[in-house]
Amino acid sequence: MTERSIFLLPGDGIGPEIMSEVKTLISHMNDKEGANFKTDEGLVGGSAYDAHGEAISDSDMEKALAADAVLFGAVGGPKWDDVPYEARPEAGLLRLRKDMALFANLRPAICYPALSNSSSLRPEVVEGLDILIVRELTGGVYFGEPKTITDLGNGQKRAVDTQVYETYEIERIAGVAFEMARARGNKVCSMEKRNVMKSGVLWNEVVTATHKAKYDDVELSHMLADAGGMQLVRWPKQFDVIVCDNLFGDMLSDVAAMLTGSLGMLPSASLGAPDEKTGARKALYEPVHGSAPDIAGKGIANPIAMFASFAMCLRYSFNMIAESERLEKAIATVLDSGVRTGDIMSEGCTQITTSEMGKAIREAY
Ligand code: ATP
Ligand code: MG
Repeated sequence: MTERSIFLLPGDGIGPEIMSEVKTLISHMNDKEGANFKTDEGLVGGSAYDAHGEAISDSDMEKALAADAVLFGAVGGPKWDDVPYEARPEAGLLRLRKDMALFANLRPAICYPALSNSSSLRPEVVEGLDILIVRELTGGVYFGEPKTITDLGNGQKRAVDTQVYETYEIERIAGVAFEMARARGNKVCSMEKRNVMKSGVLWNEVVTATHKAKYDDVELSHMLADAGGMQLVRWPKQFDVIVCDNLFGDMLSDVAAMLTGSLGMLPSASLGAPDEKTGARKALYEPVHGSAPDIAGKGIANPIAMFASFAMCLRYSFNMIAESERLEKAIATVLDSGVRTGDIMSEGCTQITTSEMGKAIREAY
């Protein structure tokens, strides 16, 4: 069987602790299911800076580019607050995104039944919630030129950011959203602000044309992003896949994450363009949460977001749908059984450690 290569970048803080639990699952899948994963491991973030003065080395960058998938833990921490800007821990992730050309960021918001009481919303609003935000990641106002602050000389300054999108960028992110929808609830809602932004006009036009040309079996709707944000909080279950630009996606995916009441448990995937010959995509999978320096080294971090990120990896990089679903189900089963790490602890539940949670998930898998 073909070899499946995964490059592991545990990073800093709790990154290595939660990655270690997933590594054990990977070995288990190799031993018991003949999954044929081949893993290699590198350094990123502060740990890479300590080893060789940059947030990711060229040789680790090459390994990331060559692998079928990259699993990323988390980077950063107070120890590296004063390192030079270009070598700050986050620069490692930004370089990976840029060099791997990861233009599509996928953020599911899943409300686990056992945790639906921890949302800030009423249980009936979030129970069973399972939506996917597809955010454009390499364009838009975060990168557009000009991007300047000018001193106007009269005690005033002028700051300029520029939102730029071209047809091909919108087409390819819309394509990802429609393809994802086909494997889920078959609905896409596109959000922009065409009433006040030219890029919103083009966004709407290109999404509509892409839908008509290749994906008219998927249900498509459009919303202004402000109204969309309101609807997301009012009745999130009306959505299946939401597609939006970099800025709106950044905000709306954080809003969606909070709906679930489990920000610390959510996974993400960032995908590149499919290879012209093989159709394979470059991809990086990581928890939404950060390196949690306050609890690092204590063995109490919640590894669920890391496991859920690996479940996305099984699905999107290796098309191992059954295994991915089994892993997602294992997470839900373990939560149903009443065990919790400290961050999601509630009355009547039993508190367990990182490694106990890892073991419980592997056993339920
Ligand atoms: P970043 O800037 O990298 O996003 P952050 O400081 O915004 O990081 P996190 O590192 O995610 O945020 O931590 C926020 C809080 O959530 C911290 O108190 C941390 O301990 C807690 N936390 C985050 N992830 C986990 C986890 N997997 N398990 C337990 N607690 C977590
Ligand atoms: Mg943060």
